[in-house]
Formats: sequence, structure tokens, C-alpha cells
Amino acid sequence: MTFKELGFSELILESLFYMGFEKATPIQEQAVPEIFAGHDLLASAQTGTGKTAAFMLPILDKLSQMKRDKTTALIIVPTRELALQIDQQIQAFSYTTNISSIPLYGGGDGQDWETQKKALKSGVDIVVATPGKLTSFINNKYLDCDGIKYLILDEADRMLDIGFYDDIIAIIKKLPKDRQTLLFSATMPNKIVKLSSEILNNPKQIRIAMSKPNAKILQAAYLVYDSQKVALLTKLIKDKPKYKSIIIFSSTKKNISIIIGELKRQGIKASGISSNLDQKEREKIMLEFRAKNIRVLVATDVISRGIDVKDIDLVINYDVPRDAEDYVHRIGRTARAAASGVAITLINEDDMNYFGNIEKLIEKEIYKMSVPEELGESPEYNTRKRRNFGSRKPAQRGGGKGRPNNNRRR
Ligand code: AMP
Repeated sequence: MTFKELGFSELILESLFYMGFEKATPIQEQAVPEIFAGHDLLASAQTGTGKTAAFMLPILDKLSQMKRDKTTALIIVPTRELALQIDQQIQAFSYTTNISSIPLYGGGDGQDWETQKKALKSGVDIVVATPGKLTSFINNKYLDCDGIKYLILDEADRMLDIGFYDDIIAIIKKLPKDRQTLLFSATMPNKIVKLSSEILNNPKQIRIAMSKPNAKILQAAYLVYDSQKVALLTKLIKDKPKYKSIIIFSSTKKNISIIIGELKRQGIKASGISSNLDQKEREKIMLEFRAKNIRVLVATDVISRGIDVKDIDLVINYDVPRDAEDYVHRIGRTARAAASGVAITLINEDDMNYFGNIEKLIEKEIYKMSVPEELGESPEYNTRKRRNFGSRKPAQRGGGKGRPNNNRRR
């Protein structure tokens, strides 16, 4: 379906033309008519589905045709990176309009706070904010919520995981009751259902089934001992000069500095991103990575969700995420839009059960290899709870990249 068929006005169609958006994605096809009709929405969709445009375009279309003198739309998101990214998308989508927006997030310096205060005073149509920062802006009366007609919660499950439930409820209590509310979440656990029953009014429900990774991502795993991880990592990166953009994910901040130190010793240019860095430093690194000036980015899950960097060739999971959904988010950083990509996970003995949970979630058995011979023996693959995938083919030799691991305990 085209955006014209969805009923967008000429101004928005013009911006979409400049952005090269031709056809609506499934979430856009389903969400846009409901939003135009004024319904509340409970949508289950992951990043990569085009969900930002799905909620933002109809809201921008509505705003462009309204008289606006106060902040009219509020978007609440879990992280500052996502706030910045959505704000940037708004700027692109509303290029042909005079709609204004501002991201509000914590972690900046006093100057940021002043700039944000000034922008709010001068009147801004859309605010994209993290819950903590938003709470302090509302409590200090820097943000006037009386004119808010559209409220969007993006990545709501992530916000609840971080512990923002009470903040969100407190913020919403301060908003006008007569508003349209859209709730987007990658997953629909009970706590999201509970939140939606408290804040949505007779919502339309949309589910875009996508807890499975994009089929264009080639997924594989190595069975490793911890002592082999760094050597394997550097070998993987050195052996793949054609991969220009690589992300390595690790669950712990401590590992980030260990990995970077080792990569640098091996002459590989790498930078790290974790919640240890302040906002300015994180933005600078992301900018350099997007511009392909940094080949390898080493990060915690702080950037595993929602961050849209084009043309990432390879994602390496230095460890297995405890939350199986995080795996889908991490590897979803590659094979964005029409591209393909590779995701490799290093599995140590402690992580085997967690990897089993991931395979269960994505309903797929991932090809597992032993480390290359020069690094020694690999551990045997063994999960306590055996899973049933129908056929269990033994791992096979894969293009010389590693040795198949057939050492399964019976
Ligand atoms: P999201 O799921 O919002 O993170 O979007 C993923 C990526 O898809 C972003 O780079 C969007 O700019 C892009 N995108 C969203 N909708 C479309 C569309 N209809 N056509 C082409 N690209 C799109």
C-alpha cells in the first residue's frame, strides 16, 4: 500500500518522497488508519518494522493541519539514544512542515538543561523524553502539559524493565484526559497488559509477529572457554577485512574495556559505549560509528534496542544475553532494511542454557562450531533441558570458518 492510499497530506507525502519511502510496511498499513481514526492503540512491534514512522507520520499529519500554541504531542521512550533518534526522524519526516520537536534526556550537562528549558519556553510542538527527565521538567513546571493531545509510549516493555512504571503512571496523571494514546511494545508481558488497561481507552490492538530475527541474518555460534574468547574475537575480526562495520555486544561494562584494550593491542580500531560514558561522549562515538570512521563498536545492551545504524555487516555477541529477547534485538542491528548480515555468538559453558532459551524463542537451532584448532579444544554443547525442534541435524562444516561441534553429551 502507498502512503497516498493511506490518506497522507501532500506535505507529508513530499517529505516521504525525499526520504525514499515508497510503500508502507505492515505495521504502518495497520496502525496508520487506526491513528487517523482517532483510536487508542496497543501495538506489538519490534524495531526494524518501521514502527516509528507508523506512529509518527499520522501524528505529524494531524499536527500539520492544527492550530498549535502549546506542546501537543509527547513521546516517552526508555533511553536517550532512542529519544535522539526519534527526534531526528521527526525532523526528517516534518521537513516540509513547520512542526518543531525537542528531545529531553538525562545525563547531559547544565548547558543542555538550559537549552532544553529555553526551547520549551519558546514553544515546541513535540517533546520526546525519557521518563526521569520528563518527571523533573514537569515537576519544575518547565513543561506545560495542558495542550497535550497525543501521547506515545515507545518500547514500553523496556521502560517497565528499567523500573519506570510508577514514573509513567505519575506523568500520565498530569496529562489531559481527552487525548489519544498509542502504546508500542516489542513484547506483551502481563505488566504491559496491566499498564495498557490503566492508560488506554478502548484500544485497537495490532500484533506484528516478529520475535523472530530477520531471515537475512546469517546466525552462527562458537563454543568457547572464557580463556579463548578474546583470541577468537580478534581472529574473527582480522579474518574478515570486508566487514567494515562491526558491533560487539557484551553484557558487562567491565568486559567492554577488556575487549577494547585487546583489540587495540592487535591494531584494530575500536571504541566502546556503555552507560559509564556521558551523553556527549556516547553521541560522539555513535556519530563516528555511523560515519564509518570507527570499524568496531563494543557496547552493552544500552544500544541493543531501537538504534538504527545502516549497513552493519557483523554483530558478535561476546556473551549470551540473559534475556532471550535481547538476543533478537542485538542481532537485529545487522541486516537492516534491504541488507543482509552476519551474527556470531560466543557460548561458554555457563551460557549454554541461556542459548537454549534463545533457540526456543526464535524456534531455530543455530549452527554451532568449535573454535579453530590453533585455539585448542572447545567445550561440549550441553543444555540441561533438551529441546525438541523436530529434526536435530548435527552441525556441519561451514565454509572453513570453524570446526563443526559434534561433541554433544548424550
Ligand atoms: P524502525 O522500526 O522505526 O526502527 O524503522 C527501521 C528503519 O526502517 C528506519 O531506518 C526507517 O527509516 C526505515 N523505514 C521505516 N518505514 C519505511 C518505509 N515505509 N520504507 C522504507 N524505509 C522505512
